[in-house]
Formats: sequence, structure tokens, C-alpha cells
Amino acid sequence: MFKQENQVKNYLINWYKKNQRDLPWRIKFQNNLPNPYYVFVSEYMLQQTTVNTVTKRFNEFIVRWPNIEKLARSTEPQILKFWSGLGYYSRARNLLKSAKLINKYYKNNIPNIYDELIKFPGIGDYTAKAILGIGFNKSVMPLDANIERILIRLHAIEKPVIKVKNKLKDFGNKFISDKYSSDLIQSFMDYGSAICLPRNPKCDICGLNKFCQSYKKNLQLTIPFKLRKKSIKPIKYTRAYVIVNEKNEILVRSRPNKGMLASMLEVPNDVWVKNKKLLITDQDIKKIKTKLKSKGLFEYSFSHFDLETEIFYGNVKKAKLSNCNWIKKSKYSNSRMPTVMKKIVEMAV
Ligand code: SF4
Repeated sequence: MFKQENQVKNYLINWYKKNQRDLPWRIKFQNNLPNPYYVFVSEYMLQQTTVNTVTKRFNEFIVRWPNIEKLARSTEPQILKFWSGLGYYSRARNLLKSAKLINKYYKNNIPNIYDELIKFPGIGDYTAKAILGIGFNKSVMPLDANIERILIRLHAIEKPVIKVKNKLKDFGNKFISDKYSSDLIQSFMDYGSAICLPRNPKCDICGLNKFCQSYKKNLQLTIPFKLRKKSIKPIKYTRAYVIVNEKNEILVRSRPNKGMLASMLEVPNDVWVKNKKLLITDQDIKKIKTKLKSKGLFEYSFSHFDLETEIFYGNVKKAKLSNCNWIKKSKYSNSRMPTVMKKIVEMAV
């Protein structure tokens, strides 16, 4: 349990007073708070776009559309034309739709209630909380990448952020401020972009280092953990044959006693190959003069390759293959078949 929330909050607020970024949507208006409309617009713009790029375009937007009323009167082609260079045009459409809704149903006042905001197009949990916290000083904690990074480092959680989102929400909620929510949220954001940097955080000059579990354990360069990218595995191909006799028994055989899945039970299958065109029908199956029906493709992932199998099913009289091994259909799941073979049978019968 992290005990020093208040000390962290006080430190960040004081740090922010001296070091806050000079961003155009932060200019303070009434009640010593930023204009909610500015925050509203900036949060749409900042989705998927860097602070630097947004900073360059924000003032231009405000000159053209200084408030909800003016924006609501605009048309989609006009806003899309402006948006050129910012990318992700759905944000522009959503911003315009929201402005029209606020104009129609809220008398041009951006609502300051979470349940209302979250209904607008393009506004999710983070954006709703950012607007409420920064624009209205509501007691919330929106978690952006900067805030998540500070939280995960303070607590030295040795997992990728994506795996501990709920935990970080809980931690974030402990830092919610009753009185200075707007400044505190922005202080976290600025601290993450100036001191607790993604790479090479400035721990030596960080006033939080005495509380920071990552710093204490010398893990600040490895936390947050990166999500390991799935390696692209080679793929092999085979065909497997599930042959069932009149006694509800499945044709099986033992695999060679060396190599993969050695000595385990399998249904007949072709030699596994890297090129599908090189598949050769299994010798045992060639002997069976019966019609086989394709049951479709099945993919199975081994640690070092993926196996794509086309499964075939057929019925054969036991007498026709009297020298072969059979296993009761009801018993295969408890047999020494490897999982891949059990799944193949499962799919066929
Ligand atoms: S000590 Fe380093 S890792 Fe910990 S909060 Fe400060 S800058 Fe971030």
C-alpha cells in the first residue's frame, strides 16, 4: 500500500506552479480555471496527436470557432478542411456532432456531469474525466500515458501497463484532489512529460524519488514493462484423418519414438511440411478406399511453429483394417493423445 499520496500531491502542485507548460488551452478564465470549451476542443485534438502539433493549430481553431455556438453552426466540410494535417478525421466529425448536440440540448454549455459527457460521440472515460477535471475542477483522475507511467513507477509494478489498467485506476483514484483537481491533473501530466520521462527519467532531480518504489529497487529504466510482441512463427501444414468404424472406434497409431510428441497416439496424418503444395497423402490412408469428407481447417500453435491442419472424416468397416489399432470414441480424451490430436478428433466427430 502506498502511504504518501498527500506528500506526492503537494510536491506536484508546487512543482507545477513553477514549471507548468505554457499551452494555449490552459489559459485561465473564470474561477482561475481554463475555459471548458478550450479543454473540450483540445481533448478532441489531442486524441492521437502530439501536444506540439496541437499547440500549433489550436489558436487557429479558436480564432475561427471561439465558442460552441459558432462551432455548432459550422459544417462538416468546413471542419474537415481545417483538420487537414491533424489526421484521424473522425475526431473532427465527432467534435462537430458534439457541438451541435450541446448547442441544441444544453444551451451551448458543456455539461459538467460524467454521465452526460460520456454520451457524446468521441468521448470515452479518459476524455470525459479530462474535461471534468481540467475544465471544471471536478474530483476525478483521468489516466493518460504520463500519469499511468508515474503511477506504475511509484508502485514498482513489474507488468505492462495494459495488464494492470484497473489497478492503476484504483491507484489514480487515491490521488484525486478535492480542491485542486485541475492543477493536480495537469501537474501529473507535465511531470510525466518533463521529469518522469518514458526513457531516461530524471530520477536524480525528482522530488518524488524518496517515495518511488521503482527508484528504490533500481527498476526505473525497466518499468513500465514493454508488452512482448508476439513473434511471427513459421507455419507448417498437414492433413489429418479421423476414421471411425462401425463400433464407434477411432483409427489410431503410435508416433515414432523420437522427435516431437514421441510415442504418443495420433490419428493418421500427412508428414508436416512448410509448403502446402508438397503434402503427400499418408500411406495408411491411401489403402482405405472410402470417401473422406473435409471437416475444415484447424490451427494449432506449438512453441516454435504453427500447424495448419485440414481435417478429414470417414467411416470404414473394422474388418477392412483388422491389423490396425483402434480406440473407443468415448476413451480418446483420456488416452495418450497429445492435445493437438485430441482437438483434431474433437473437431471431426
Ligand atoms: S524517481 Fe524516477 S521513476 Fe520515480 S517518479 Fe521520479 S522520475 Fe519517475
